[in-house]
Amino acid sequence: MKESKEILKSLRENIVQNQVNAYVEDNNCCQICNISLKKKGHNEIKFRTLFGKLSIESPRFRNCKCIEQRTVSFSSLPNLINERVSPELQFMESK
Ligand SMILES: [Zn+2]
Repeated sequence: MKESKEILKSLRENIVQNQVNAYVEDNNCCQICNISLKKKGHNEIKFRTLFGKLSIESPRFRNCKCIEQRTVSFSSLPNLINERVSPELQFMESK
């Protein structure tokens, strides 16, 4: 039973990470000059789901120098996951 839960958690993490990677790949260009941004490491964030907490790798990118920015780098993932709780878990918690 314990092993099957670990396998399911690993599977969910892989699915979510693949969705995140696809989103990041589509959003790794400067929105002004459309140049491809350089990757600057990553953070690990926790995402709460009905099936437990998942660890997701959130890549960081250097800001483009075409306009002045307040920060050196940013993560685009908060635009996708602005709340670190899945909609299904939020629904169940609100019931
Ligand atoms: Zn730019």
